[in-house]
Amino acid sequence: MRRYLIAANWKMHGSLEMVHKFAESFDQDVDLGADVVLFPPAVYLNAMQGLTSKFVQSGAQDLGVALQGAHTGEIAASMIKDVGCSWVIVGHSERRNDQGESDALVAQKFASAIAADLRPIVCVGETLAQRDAGGAFAVVSKQLRAIIDLCGVSVLVKGAIAYEPLWAIGTGLTATPEQAGQMHASIRELIAVLDKDTAKATRIIYGGSVNPENAGLMFAQEEIDGALVGGASLQAHSFAAIIAAL
Ligand code: PEP
Repeated sequence: MRRYLIAANWKMHGSLEMVHKFAESFDQDVDLGADVVLFPPAVYLNAMQGLTSKFVQSGAQDLGVALQGAHTGEIAASMIKDVGCSWVIVGHSERRNDQGESDALVAQKFASAIAADLRPIVCVGETLAQRDAGGAFAVVSKQLRAIIDLCGVSVLVKGAIAYEPLWAIGTGLTATPEQAGQMHASIRELIAVLDKDTAKATRIIYGGSVNPENAGLMFAQEEIDGALVGGASLQAHSFAAIIAAL
């Protein structure tokens, strides 16, 4: 049985004031049967951790692959772990596009996270043009193969896969539950060919304009194990409503 995973990706949004407001109204005092993970900008992690309960985990939005050294601006996996995070996002499409992160680099980041005992959420997904050309699964499987080739298949259970079609991120367009469910099933099948137990145990979550209205329909899909939420996670009430949709 896979435990649900609901993650809040604040991207480059927020302030200390917003962290306080969010934490005050985000009441998570019981285990709701899901891993709830907040990903504020790294500079706010400490404040967020100090204000949330033990039922709320935290993570960084990215990591640098070097262990330490002369890499200005980078944050090592061990440092993320050191400040009490258990998770990290790798390969978000905004980083793949804006910072030119390749599948190979994302795979290295996944490996660095695992080596530091962090749980990586790797984001995969296709553009609308790729989907329209019938190539959505080819894109997603290439992104995943890079990780499996470098790290092996069984490590996937230590993290999670976020299927995030690029055309649905921050656009208000959502994949239909069926489209998402189909892609999740194909991803699970890809893993199952290599290792059935890993396929059964790996969490595959959906991201792309998830909100309180559509979350329930997404979670009703057997293959959808939770959500990576951007815009709707910036306010405690809408993020809490998404969790409640479980
Ligand atoms: C995301 O940032 O991963 C995301 C899915 O954003 P949004 O929910 O705003 O589409």
